[in-house]
Amino acid sequence: MQLHLYNTLTRKNEPFAPLNGEPVRIYSCGPTVYNYAHIGNMRAFLFPDLLQRVLRVVCGYPVKWVMNITDIEDKIIRDSAIGSSEWLPAMGEQADNPNSNAAKLALHYEREFLNDITTIGIKTSDFYAIPRATDFIDAITDLVRKIVENGYGYVSEGSVYFNLNEWRKAAKYGQLFTIDTENFRAGVRIDADEYERDQVSDFVLWKAHKEGEPSWDFELSGKNLRGRPGWHIECSAMGHASLGLPFDIHTGGVDLRFPHHEDEIAQSKAGYGVETSAFWCHNEFLEVEGTKMSKSKGNFFILRDLLDKGIDPLDFRFAMMSVQYNYVFNFTFFGLESARKARFRIQDYIYDLHETPSETAELKSSYVVELRTEVFAELLNDLHTPKALERVFAYINAHPASGLDQQTRTQLIAFFTELNGIFDVWEIGERPVVTIEIPDDVRELAEQRWQAKKNRDFAAADALRARISERGFVILDTKDAYSIEKA
Ligand SMILES: [Zn+2]
Repeated sequence: MQLHLYNTLTRKNEPFAPLNGEPVRIYSCGPTVYNYAHIGNMRAFLFPDLLQRVLRVVCGYPVKWVMNITDIEDKIIRDSAIGSSEWLPAMGEQADNPNSNAAKLALHYEREFLNDITTIGIKTSDFYAIPRATDFIDAITDLVRKIVENGYGYVSEGSVYFNLNEWRKAAKYGQLFTIDTENFRAGVRIDADEYERDQVSDFVLWKAHKEGEPSWDFELSGKNLRGRPGWHIECSAMGHASLGLPFDIHTGGVDLRFPHHEDEIAQSKAGYGVETSAFWCHNEFLEVEGTKMSKSKGNFFILRDLLDKGIDPLDFRFAMMSVQYNYVFNFTFFGLESARKARFRIQDYIYDLHETPSETAELKSSYVVELRTEVFAELLNDLHTPKALERVFAYINAHPASGLDQQTRTQLIAFFTELNGIFDVWEIGERPVVTIEIPDDVRELAEQRWQAKKNRDFAAADALRARISERGFVILDTKDAYSIEKA
């Protein structure tokens, strides 16, 4: 069984095989740590998590997964200007260091980001590296220097720009995205990290220092161009330094295809002379109640908002897998509740499998092999999680645990253990025994009620039952005993 992935580079579903044998090298564009990541961002982190788990669990490949942290960028500088006592001091930073506020803000939200992804079941131990842009300034300046030396970059007013006109003579610009180059005017420069497709122009690689902004020294042709990196060059340099180019798979949200990923491809080829990645895989957007998430519409959520509403983060994780990664996900609270029910339907089944089978249970072992083959085939088909789950539900509906013998149960537990290596939302062990603490006064009321009942004083017994009920407990009577349970 071979994994097939939709490759944005070729616009085709293609069979996947590692470029240089094993391991599989994946680079995922990570967060710009200027604020909390919203739930749409969470989808862009859960997608490569699913991918790397399928590669490990189903394909059996070792994986080197890298996700970067963009900790120097326009929005970080903009939002750090105000300062906040909430941000933790960055290690080794001086109070008068101009990098200090930006570094503190970035470190604060980096920690929040790592907390958030851990909460939704992404294991930081699964990463080969989580590089920070500011730790790779030398690698970044080295790449900028190479691009200039190769004739595809130039200096203007202390900043360095990518010469798109020159590059378009040498290679195709617009490999992931059909770019309307009609409006392209040679030599027009853009300084912003984010821009629209009708603004195709020479983009910035290195930004000249501005008063109060973080900056680093950069020697180019005997001059010190003090400044800071542009956003796009950061990923090119960190990908190259962490994994070597080209790597196997580059992931990101669809919104990153242009300009971020197009610029990454151009820079790496212009500087290092190699392609960036064999596969480019993009996850689609998450919408809320059928519309684009936005603060002004009041439908903008970060993970913490969901937790505050009492939502189990594993229900969010499971819900994300109810839609294939490259289809728009319509987030609703009703949908989240359905996901919870579906998750617990499987959880209950796993618990049931641990119970002792009855004498009449049949042997169903062969079906487990089929189930495993079918479910894994769906996952290998461009990570089709909804179809994989459909197969699981068809099986558990057709084969209630009560009718299965021990051998089948053992095989199914092994299968769900494997599957949980991907979904990671179930407990594989026995159904936990819930012990309820019953307060002494409730025990006392129950005893008084039992005596009243024995004395055939039913009015008193009913009154006592009502008081017990107010305390959140119920009494269950048998012929000559009673038990107390949580209401
Ligand atoms: Zn990136």
